[in-house]
Amino acid sequence: MHLYIHIPFCKQACHYCDFHFSTNTASKSAIVEAIAREIVLRKSYLPQGDMETIYFGGGTPSLLDEAELHFLLETIRGHFRLSPDAEITLEANPDDLSAATLQMFAHAGINRLSIGIQSFHEPHLRFMNRAHSATEAEQCVKLAQQAGIDNISIDLIYAIPSENHDILLSDLSKAFTLNVPHISAYCLTIEPKTAFGSWLKKKKISPIEEEYAAQQFEILLQSLLDHGYEQYEISNFARNGRYSNHNSSYWKQHPYLGVGPSAHSYNGASRQYNVSNNAKYLEAVQKDIIPATLELLSPADQTNEYLLTGLRTKWGVELQVLEKLSAGAFALQASEELTSMSRKGWIRQDSGVLLLTQAGKLFADRIASDLFID
Ligand code: SF4
Repeated sequence: MHLYIHIPFCKQACHYCDFHFSTNTASKSAIVEAIAREIVLRKSYLPQGDMETIYFGGGTPSLLDEAELHFLLETIRGHFRLSPDAEITLEANPDDLSAATLQMFAHAGINRLSIGIQSFHEPHLRFMNRAHSATEAEQCVKLAQQAGIDNISIDLIYAIPSENHDILLSDLSKAFTLNVPHISAYCLTIEPKTAFGSWLKKKKISPIEEEYAAQQFEILLQSLLDHGYEQYEISNFARNGRYSNHNSSYWKQHPYLGVGPSAHSYNGASRQYNVSNNAKYLEAVQKDIIPATLELLSPADQTNEYLLTGLRTKWGVELQVLEKLSAGAFALQASEELTSMSRKGWIRQDSGVLLLTQAGKLFADRIASDLFID
């Protein structure tokens, strides 16, 4: 069983971000109460079993104070049986990570941190409107390790406009000195409903050039591989098998419950999307109503989702599972495309598993969508 908790508050809006969050934290305690209530209301959503992963995402869960974090974890412990080695991750921003806060997290049971570093370069942090400084980015990881949390992932953003690749190389070299077991690397994308999106429309900034982004990704990939990181998902790299168990469960299509404003849930047959509005969420949950939209997944939806997420991972997709999900339609509809892609050297088959080649990983989403069935 897997649980995602969305904490929809941030100190300030990063210029690239289109996640759901509010910078007005006045309703934080009320939202935390409502999330706890939603956990109780929806405790039967998941099949029976131990809770294997809990993931506090957002927004900025490191804005939770001790009482709020304890309250949420106690609610979970009161209604679910936690696996003895449950992975409990909290997304954190460097500016929140004082030694005292990190000790509080460790004491509460947080055993994995996903830290939104994004860059160690001050002008890039300012360009993206991140709340932390380059110094905080470097210090927070050491403080977390001193607090006894060594299962740490850091997020980095590449393809930030720059004259050459020197800043990316310097960011990577700083990341390697921190000796973290997991790095997630995301390409800067300009989404319409963000500050960058509006500046692009007004021509205040230029679009990110595809060739520049591809060059940066190749540099990043090679550096990570050279430093012993395994690319187990297109954007995710781990040393010594220290994968994100929570995110891997999404990619392997395991059921999960997502609580909080904008959170999604999946039970194999359908997806549910909670309303992306803190006030509406609060009002509904206070009346014991789950403000969610239900989407029933057709065999084609389930097949296509499995392709989209599975092909991005080192585990690939099992042909037998594709046949089962699609009720036999995958082989009928996709066999020509499969042959053409393997001729191009983008995919390969190994014991009934379809995998992307190193060349194919550059076009992962396009390959998946070309294999989609109707
Ligand atoms: S801190 Fe994270 S969730 Fe909040 S605005 Fe920045 S990127 Fe988005």
